[in-house]
Parts: sequence; structure tokens; C-alpha cells
Amino acid sequence: MSERLYYSDSYTTQFEAKVIERTEHDGKPAVVLDRSFFYPTSGGQPHDLGTLGDAAVLDVTVRKADGVVLHVLDSADVPDSVVGHIDWNRRFDHIQHHCGQHILSRAFIDAADAPTMSFHMGTDGCTIDINATELSAEQVAKVEALANQIVQENRPVETRQVTLEEAQSLPIRKLPPIAPGELVRLVDITDFDLTACGGTHPARTGEIGLIKVTRLERRKKMLRVSFLCGMRAIQDFDHKLKVVHDLTRVLSTGADNLLGSVEKMQEETKLMSRDLRLLRKEKLVALAETLQDQFESLGNVSVLTHLFTNNETVDDLRTVGTALCETENRIVLIGTSGEQAMLFFRSSAGDEYHMGNLLRGVLEKIGSKSGGGRSDQAQGGGQRANDQNVLDALQSAKANLAK
Ligand SMILES: [Zn+2]
Repeated sequence: MSERLYYSDSYTTQFEAKVIERTEHDGKPAVVLDRSFFYPTSGGQPHDLGTLGDAAVLDVTVRKADGVVLHVLDSADVPDSVVGHIDWNRRFDHIQHHCGQHILSRAFIDAADAPTMSFHMGTDGCTIDINATELSAEQVAKVEALANQIVQENRPVETRQVTLEEAQSLPIRKLPPIAPGELVRLVDITDFDLTACGGTHPARTGEIGLIKVTRLERRKKMLRVSFLCGMRAIQDFDHKLKVVHDLTRVLSTGADNLLGSVEKMQEETKLMSRDLRLLRKEKLVALAETLQDQFESLGNVSVLTHLFTNNETVDDLRTVGTALCETENRIVLIGTSGEQAMLFFRSSAGDEYHMGNLLRGVLEKIGSKSGGGRSDQAQGGGQRANDQNVLDALQSAKANLAK
């Protein structure tokens, strides 16, 4: 069995070892070493990256069958005696987030009575799911303040192995299922948190640098807490500072006035949109007025067909159709061409004519199958159609009406 040296030393990034088995994992070469500092994916913490000799370590994983650590490589060309290098930036990021999670989980218990149910660490971010459905901003601020106090007090972080019997007598936050006779590895943040964990940790809490909760979202009966530690928290701060700087420049205001400026703009936009809607309606009603003398008699009703070509919406067509049908015994057959051609039929001529049926009968002329309506009003379309296609549809509807 190979020796897992990271259990007692998170800091060594260069070591010598002997290859004791050569194998494959998912079609790639893999080796087992007599001793290794490489951390394999486990306990919610991702694996280390680095090199073995000239080969890149692509993955480090625990083989289910016998629990040995497999180093998955990009090349099988590795000597029997090999030097391993671990990517320290990645390892340190994991150290900061893993230990940061221990502190945050304990702080959520102490300051908000919300124990952690699960933990996820990835390149996209880190989250814990806590057993709570709602937390106030003040509660989260209290949790964060406590967590960062523990970081700034630079408390020692110690690991030790104990028997299951001893573990059961200790106030351990989380104890996974252990087979009798196996040892439990404990991570002890002095006078703050004691838990079972196999991950990599710093010697003192100060190395975490900073713990920042970035988001809270409801997940079924739990809250998912996103958080960042150390360098990732600083990078996130840089990014957000840049966003604020860009906004203050574009809006020509100070950071403290940003919210007020945006709220004022939203209010102005709302008023302008309302004015615009009213003006547009007035314009369309005026347009309808110019069409009043273009109705043609067809039996006992007056019929109008008209093609709109200025990207009018179906709401615009409805406004025109409704205005023109304020007079009785009229049928209005109108449409728009373009990317989303639409037909709109409206009648004030009673139940003798059915606009829905009339419209469905000509939809294929504009290449659409989507539409329908009641006897007095119908609409349909949504596909691209040119002026001639829409005109054909309108003329065809008029001809059907004459039948
Ligand atoms: Zn841990």
C-alpha cells in the first residue's frame, strides 16, 4: 500500500518516489507510487495537478477495488525512480477553500444555528448547503465576521488520527461512517472546530486570508451558500471593483450614488415608455382614420384589406383593427410582412362570419401553421413572409369571404 504523505504535510510540492505498479485508467497510462504527496479527488476536494518526471499528472484518483492512489498521466514514459512536482497554486487554493469551509460551517452553527449538510468545491466556485430556509443579511454578516475573526486570530490547525472509540467521545462536528478498527483523521482548528476530514489544510488559519460569502440561494429545504477564500476572494473583489468603476464612469456619479442613479433612470424609462406607448397608439389611430375610405362593399358588409410594411407588431394591428371596427358591419383583414409576418382579422359584422376559420384557411399562404381565434377576432403567423405572400393571404381571405 502506498503511503499518503499529504495527510501529515500539505506543503511539500517536490518529492522522490518509486513506481510500484504500472496500469491504465480510462484508457490513459497510470502509476501507483510507493509514497506520494499528490491529493486524490475525495471528500469534496478536487485532486492535485503537477508532473511525474516528464509526464503531466492529469488526474489523481483512488482505485475503488483496493484504495490505492492512481496517478493518471499523459505519457507512460516515466522512470521507476521518479520526481513528483505538485502545482502549488492549485493546491494552496484548495487548502484555503477547504479549511475556509470548516471555519464557515462552524460559524454557521455558532452564529446562525445552521449546520452544513453538504460541500462542493470546484473551479467554478465553492458552496455549502446549510440546513436553513431563510437567513437575514444581519445573520450572514455575523457568520462572516466570526469566520474572519478566526482567520485573523491565526489559530493553529492540527491533524491527528484517533480510534473510533476515542472519536465518539469527542465533540466532533461531522463523523463519517468508519469500520471498526479503522482510524479517523481529525482536523482541529484550535478551540473552534473539530471534525473528521481527509483533505489538505494549512498550519494556521491566517493562511486562508479572507472568507467571503458571495451568494445565498434557496435549494428545496436548504440554503446554498456560495463562498470564496484567499486569492479567489481577492480576484473577485478586483472584478467587482472594476464593475463599480466602469459604472461610475458611464453614469458620471460616485459609487455611493450608483443605486439612486439607476433607480432614477428606471423611473424615467418607465415614464418615457408609457408616453411612447400612448404616442404610438395615437399614431396608429390616426393611420386607421386614413383607411376609413378604403372599405369596399361585399354583400351586406364593408371589407378592408391592408398590408403594413414598417415592422408593425400584432398589438399595432389590433389597435388599428379595433379602431376601424367601432363602426358596425365591418371586416378588417390586415397583416405585416417581414421576419415575423402576422395576420390580424377583426369583424363587427356579427356571428355570420368567423374570423378564426377565415384566418386558418389562409395561414399557409404566409408559411405558418400557428394561429386562430374567435368569430370576431383572430391572429396568426410568426414566420418570415414577403409583401406578396401577405397580400396573397389577405386577398384570398377576402375571396373566401365573398363565397
Ligand atoms: Zn477538511
